Amino acid sequence: MEKTLILIKPNAIQRGLMGDIVTRFERKGLRIVGLKMMYLTDDLLKEHYAHLVERPFYPYLKASMQVAPVVACCLEGAEAVETVRLMVGVTNSRKALPGTIRGDFSMSGEQNVVHASDSIENALVEIKRFFRDDELFDYESAVTHFEYGGEESIKFK
Ligand code: UDP
Ligand code: MG
Repeated sequence: MEKTLILIKPNAIQRGLMGDIVTRFERKGLRIVGLKMMYLTDDLLKEHYAHLVERPFYPYLKASMQVAPVVACCLEGAEAVETVRLMVGVTNSRKALPGTIRGDFSMSGEQNVVHASDSIENALVEIKRFFRDDELFDYESAVTHFEYGGEESIKFK
């Protein structure tokens, strides 16, 4: 099944939101197949936010991502990339809908609690950026039959 990458940002770690955020994904039925806490180096951040390094706010973004560790999480499920982006909400948390993670937990466009891969292609690259192969776990869910219908289980295998 499809995989996507989440980073629980330092602002969420500081505010004690890690558990709430992980719980949302678990409750939704996304399977956690990788999970670790880490500090982000200058090089890793530059690569991860390559599309933003020239923007005036990059120094602030960089500092905010290095002030505490992040929790990287690889989630698996049918159409996981799109589903997780919907759960996260738009970049500016003030505009993010209530019920989304950013909409419920943040007032900021920068300190917006989570990162989520924005496309299937980027998810593949980002998962490799944050996890070695032996840090990802391929295990059977005991409740797959109750999470997906028969046709979906075949379609999204
Ligand atoms: N960001 C910011 N100001 C902006 C746009 C983005 O501080 O005007 C930060 C914000 O933390 C965001 C991150 O840069 O989550 C990456 O931006 P992107 O456009 O990729 O948004 P995302 O995919 O996180 O919604
Ligand atoms: Mg992005």
